[in-house]
Amino acid sequence: MDVYGLIGNPVGHSLSPPMQEAGFDACGIDARYVTFEPAQSRVGAAIAGAQVLGICGLNVTIPFKEAVLEHVEPDALARRVGAVNTIDLTADPPQGFNTDVDGAIRAFRHHDVTLPGTQAVVVGAGGAGRAIAYGLCEAGATVAIANRTTERATDLAAELSTGTGHSLADLPALLDDADILVNATSVGMESDERIVPTDALHGDLVVMDAVYRPLQTRLLRDAEAANATTIDGAWMLLFQGIEAFERWTGRDAPVDTMNGALRCALKG
Ligand code: NAP
Repeated sequence: MDVYGLIGNPVGHSLSPPMQEAGFDACGIDARYVTFEPAQSRVGAAIAGAQVLGICGLNVTIPFKEAVLEHVEPDALARRVGAVNTIDLTADPPQGFNTDVDGAIRAFRHHDVTLPGTQAVVVGAGGAGRAIAYGLCEAGATVAIANRTTERATDLAAELSTGTGHSLADLPALLDDADILVNATSVGMESDERIVPTDALHGDLVVMDAVYRPLQTRLLRDAEAANATTIDGAWMLLFQGIEAFERWTGRDAPVDTMNGALRCALKG
């Protein structure tokens, strides 16, 4: 039996085990997916130990996505984004990838959103914001980043080939001409707050929320009321997991099965 897993802290409520195991089972792969909570100072030892024990691959979540960079060989994209969320332990040294980037882009593509030439607004410049902004730029969109701490937005924009950095107050003006809006902040997760003023939303927007608990955030409800197209946060979560599954197994992931398992776990 092959073993895959997730390292982070906390990982108790992770949706990855049911999603990944549904994929393994549907493909007839004899594998299990388990969660681990190493101490922050022991993340390098945890990766080395997992490799010695024959664990095939790991996902990485908060707070380790940046720290693991120095313990794996990151690919060019993970190195540029500055974070790793997937490790192939069958390689020596272990290889690190950032599947959040492609996860976000595949979520758009799954909804038939054409990205080249679009104007995108990403709200947030933390881990999710960085991955999404990089992905959108690589997919040919022009990206404006707005963040509570404006300096983080301008710093991220400076790294991107087609990015500009802004404060949250700029959102209404930015959204006037925008095709795509992504919330990559944690606003909407703890409470039913809105990060974007309702009257800045319009029917020509595709609105994606990275927040997946709850699925129907205030932003997505506002966007639906404005006749915008909406994409909930479970789609990015699904496709980052699908990218990891495909890297680990070399197989096409069973998208519908993994999506069903994920959405079932989200209800539980
Ligand atoms: P992070 O690195 O801690 O970044 C948090 C971001 O939220 C920063 O831009 C921060 O702004 C902003 N923020 C926090 N509280 C705010 C407030 N009250 N008002 C305005 N902005 C606020 O977190 P992360 O890893 O990027 O995660 C962000 C969200 O994305 C979380 O809900 C997470 O669950 C979700 N996520 C989803 C996926 C997925 O696959 N769907 C993947 C990764 C993350 P400052 O810079 O000013 O602090």
